[in-house]
Amino acid sequence: MPDFYRKIQQVLELEKKKGYKNSAVAGGLEKFTEFINRQGLSENIPAKFIAEFSDYFQIYSSLSLEERESTIDNFLKLIPEKHVFKHSDSTSKDVEQPSPNGQNPALYAQLQSIQGIGNRNVKYFEKLGINNIYQLIRYFPRKYQDFSQLKTINEILYGEEVTLTGVILGDVVNRKSKRGNLLISEGILSDSTGNLKLTWFNQPFIKNQLKSGMPIVVSGKVDMFRGRFTMSSPVWERLNKEQIHTNRIVPIYPATSGISQRQIRNIIKKNIDFWSNKITEYLPDEILNKESLTPINNALLQVHFPASMDNLENSQKRFAFEEIFFLQLGFLYQKSRVQKQSARNFPYETTLLASRKEKLPYKLTNAQDNAIKIILDDLTNNTPMNRLLQGDVGSGKTVVAKFAVEAIIKGTAQAAILAPTSILAEQHFNTISDLLFESGSAAPDEVAILLGKTNQKEKSKTLSQLSAGKIKCIIGTHALLEDPVIFSNLQLIVVDEQHRFGVNQRNKLKSKGDNPHTLVMSATPIPRSLALTVYGDLDVTTIDEMPPGRLPVRTEIVNSKNRNKAYELIREQINQGFQAFIVYPMIDADEENVHKSAVAEKERLQTKIFPQYKVALLHGKMKPSEKENIMYQFREHQYDILVSTTVIEVGVDIPGVTIIIIESANFFGLAQLHQIRGRVGRNSEESYCILIPESDDAAENKRLQAMVDTNDGFKLADIDLNIRGPGDFLGTRQSGYVDFKFASIADARLIEKCLYHVRNIINSDPLLINSEHLLLREELSNRWPGLIEIND
Ligand code: ADP
Ligand code: MG
Repeated sequence: MPDFYRKIQQVLELEKKKGYKNSAVAGGLEKFTEFINRQGLSENIPAKFIAEFSDYFQIYSSLSLEERESTIDNFLKLIPEKHVFKHSDSTSKDVEQPSPNGQNPALYAQLQSIQGIGNRNVKYFEKLGINNIYQLIRYFPRKYQDFSQLKTINEILYGEEVTLTGVILGDVVNRKSKRGNLLISEGILSDSTGNLKLTWFNQPFIKNQLKSGMPIVVSGKVDMFRGRFTMSSPVWERLNKEQIHTNRIVPIYPATSGISQRQIRNIIKKNIDFWSNKITEYLPDEILNKESLTPINNALLQVHFPASMDNLENSQKRFAFEEIFFLQLGFLYQKSRVQKQSARNFPYETTLLASRKEKLPYKLTNAQDNAIKIILDDLTNNTPMNRLLQGDVGSGKTVVAKFAVEAIIKGTAQAAILAPTSILAEQHFNTISDLLFESGSAAPDEVAILLGKTNQKEKSKTLSQLSAGKIKCIIGTHALLEDPVIFSNLQLIVVDEQHRFGVNQRNKLKSKGDNPHTLVMSATPIPRSLALTVYGDLDVTTIDEMPPGRLPVRTEIVNSKNRNKAYELIREQINQGFQAFIVYPMIDADEENVHKSAVAEKERLQTKIFPQYKVALLHGKMKPSEKENIMYQFREHQYDILVSTTVIEVGVDIPGVTIIIIESANFFGLAQLHQIRGRVGRNSEESYCILIPESDDAAENKRLQAMVDTNDGFKLADIDLNIRGPGDFLGTRQSGYVDFKFASIADARLIEKCLYHVRNIINSDPLLINSEHLLLREELSNRWPGLIEIND
């Protein structure tokens, strides 16, 4: 490290330790300026730093004790972070020395105990989701305002955001505005170059706070009134204090009503100053060095109160790394726990397999055949399978899962299939039990269904047969996760539409068996670059081929002025005995555009457009039982048209529907549109999808054109990802997985880097139990509550 910065740091720290008596350097700190100039030049230190430090040391003797105290820390912060000298001993008098194996437990103590919060403010912090210090110091700014440009009054320009220092000239005057509805406080700021009028509105107390002659710092935007510069409602602070709200890069936090930005900032500042150097680094040195990451203490300090834009960027880089790193660490940790476990093998003899394939009503596609082979291999691998089967809507994943179930049943064990809705569960129950009976692998009373609405008597019977091992395959919804559901020997779980379930739900079902094999299925294609992060704990198999003879859904973009054309097509289809879906992005009315809301449109469609047909309504705010009723009735063809929000998106199979209209189609991502479109074209009839965009916006309509051009979900997902970026692409569906503030989930380089380090760690210490990984383990469980407990 260059001597220049180290020497300055040493002198300032010594001065602090000695009580600011200007005694760190013999003869006073002024004597140090010569060294600064000489050493600075020889080390090519930027002139601005040399000047700043030498000016400061020059005036040091004239500062009051209080000013010395408050400025030294500021000056220490001027040292660029890569030059900050790290002391090996970080002992602190205030807090116990953290034990090397864990963070200071006070980090997790409740907020009331914290200086500056108390009982009065605690409710606001809870509202912001902050319940302890750990969360408080990780409550990151939403953005920053750069008030670090210190200028003199004669340099300011209209419209710029600047920081000025000066004294208040005379008294602040309060007056009423001309109309009398505003109270205006006016004061004059003066520096050696000129005067500037400062104005505040409805803050009469300013008059008592700002006294004539008081030195202050103000930050704000330069305004103009009657040809003169002014500043309206500038933020201000006393000059001799450490500046938090002015004269620096100021953090802006996500706020809530009841507490001001200034209060949040003050409290975070206090705690960051106190805590940032008490957090023990949890990332291994090797990673910090190799990736040039800012150590945690400084990263925390700089992300809240950056000394420079460079420092801010460096700390953001560290936190971005952490986000992906810990996500992958969690996944691989989980995976290694699974691999450590041994699992039962379930062989499937080749000849039997061949003859059962023969019995299917259709010939499997190559992709299905391949997936079955991979899965059956997993089942004879001595360790639990943990596989994702992804394939476009209609690619035939169910029958693949059936073969896995069969292998388990043959081995006299049990399988459970989890589906997100009752309708889907019933659908699976019908298909899978048919397939199992036809192949002779299960008797009718060996396959059961369990739903939330199943009546008590039926439920008890099912549960007792399940725990007795009579039931070999059970299909159900969340009801399967409940405690009374006990298996005698659960060896396979299948989770359909897996993005509808959290990792913890999957684990809950797993915990009902003894290291069962797991197969999760998804029809939301995730491009390869994302799969690594989103599905890090799973092995992935893709069905990339459709069963032959599928008619592509004929897709058309119809201008909203020609909506009648779409209605005409619906009439044609209904008259031929088919049904229709009409999908809206919103449930309730939006005054600006009725064609967005399912509720309002249902009325209009039933009374004005389709009085001769029966129109039903379905949306997410309805009770589950209501929703199901409507779906059953619609499937039974008691209605011709179903007006719906995207609740129909998930895997529902209603073969009678041949046309789907998607209103305000530009509101949806392509991947989601494709998913919605997948509700039709599920039989051999020609079917239609009409997209009605809200406006004639050329760019939007060009995007929608991709839907017309291709029926390939993976292609659409790729286009979508490129157009909308990963955040929107994954949307809220995957939010359990990707809640990144700093990282971009599509940052392939960062993902690769993290994966490299995570693999090294997990290879050497799969369960994170070596002492050098205990802090890492603690941080992992902070970020992924439940992960470690569940597995332990
Ligand atoms: P998804 O992958 O969307 O879950 P499904 O498993 O529901 O798809 O299958 C969609 C439809 O395709 C079902 O009606 C199923 O019987 C049929 N199917 C599956 N595989 C084939 C195949 N190889 N050939 C013809 N039809 C098939
Ligand atoms: Mg399916």
